[in-house]
Amino acid sequence: MKINIAIDGPSASGKSTVAKQLCSILNYVHLDTGAMYRCVALEVKRKNIDIEDVESIVEMLNSTKIQLTTDGKVYLNDEDVTDIIRTNEISLLASDVSTIKEVREHLVALQQKMAQDKGFIMDGRDIGTVVLPDAELKIYLTASVEARAKRRYLENKERGLESNLQTLKNEILERDYQDTHRKYSPLKQATDAVVVDSTEMDKDDVVNYILELVKDKI
Ligand code: C5P
Repeated sequence: MKINIAIDGPSASGKSTVAKQLCSILNYVHLDTGAMYRCVALEVKRKNIDIEDVESIVEMLNSTKIQLTTDGKVYLNDEDVTDIIRTNEISLLASDVSTIKEVREHLVALQQKMAQDKGFIMDGRDIGTVVLPDAELKIYLTASVEARAKRRYLENKERGLESNLQTLKNEILERDYQDTHRKYSPLKQATDAVVVDSTEMDKDDVVNYILELVKDKI
């Protein structure tokens, strides 16, 4: 039997990494909803649309195709944007576009359509509360800002990207603030979510802990 798993939490808490590993163990499909907000941000930037110009953003959304493939690639209008949506600039712009009600409604509808069956692990900010309120297992994955900044720093280093720890920390704090204070579907713990604080845990500890919770459910 397969279930649906919602993983929410603040930026750089390891949601996607953990979701990917769980999917390969359980043979589930990963849906990284943050990548969809990032695609919208990239298109807003490329088309030079003012973030306040909701009408143009809605028009743009209606002619934009976003695809997530099972091998973890992200396509924007058939172009592979998997890597270029990961810059700091796009992270912050994604957080900006995600405050727009029309953007959220558009992407939530797509996400609900993608996960009509069971066997999905969806990660984001509003999965357990809005997108999949009936998910059988909801995780709220968090960690201290220091731990999250350090992980991002190491991740960047591994990719050959130089970054500054303090800048990363500030950027994470800025997104935390914006994501938890926005008017529409702010990041918050679903009442029935299991909180996993991974500050002192490594990736495998988190994965194994969640696997136990999955076993209990099925
Ligand atoms: O998860 P990721 O860091 O890629 O998400 C980028 C931004 O997209 C987040 O900072 C957040 O503002 C927004 N987002 C959202 N709801 C989701 C997923 C992401 O608002 N379900």
